[in-house]
Amino acid sequence: MIHWIGIALFAAAAASAVRWWITRYDSLGRARSFPWFTIGFFVVLGIAAVTPWFLRIHLEHRLSDAASEVVGARVDVHCQAFGGAFFDVGAELGYVAFGPDGVPERSTLIKRNQCRDLSAYLRSTKEAPSEAHIIAVHVLSHEAMHMSGLTDEGETECLAVQRDYEMTRLLGAPEASARYLAVSYWQSIYPRMSSEYRSEECGAGGALDKGTPEAPWAITGTSFQ
Ligand SMILES: [Zn+2]
Repeated sequence: MIHWIGIALFAAAAASAVRWWITRYDSLGRARSFPWFTIGFFVVLGIAAVTPWFLRIHLEHRLSDAASEVVGARVDVHCQAFGGAFFDVGAELGYVAFGPDGVPERSTLIKRNQCRDLSAYLRSTKEAPSEAHIIAVHVLSHEAMHMSGLTDEGETECLAVQRDYEMTRLLGAPEASARYLAVSYWQSIYPRMSSEYRSEECGAGGALDKGTPEAPWAITGTSFQ
């Protein structure tokens, strides 16, 4: 909504300029000075209002491009805006709506904090991701798996851990950093997830093991856990 305030401020700047143009000479034919201060004030406030919106659109494009590569089809990633975060009481960090036929939509909403963490991660060197960065990247992988058609949380989560390396690479991390992020999630965070998100079949040789060399257990060479 804030971008509408920005647009209104730009419109006010334009209206001030038009009003000056119409009345640029007074009744005695003297030129009125251009209202630099008023117009500058509106323009500066307008830029301040639209900048967060512009940055969010830019971030959403980057995340959508990476998620689309992982899914293999065009998907949309949206970041929760300030208004949405204010009224949000849900515990999940991302969300994909399921259609009336039970098929997940190809659009996801990532929570405001995780989008902020993804933005910080993208701007970082990516060499030492914090736990918040690791979780935020994984949330994107997880929602990408939902958008690929999966609905079961245990299956979605297990396939997501096997795509974290790829997602991290797509976000611009070097190989070693992507391996570190994928393995960190698997070893430190996956075991802390609630039982709904974990599966006995998730690990080397399990039914949910896709056998890719990018699975965290393949990267570390660990056996089934
Ligand atoms: Zn989920």
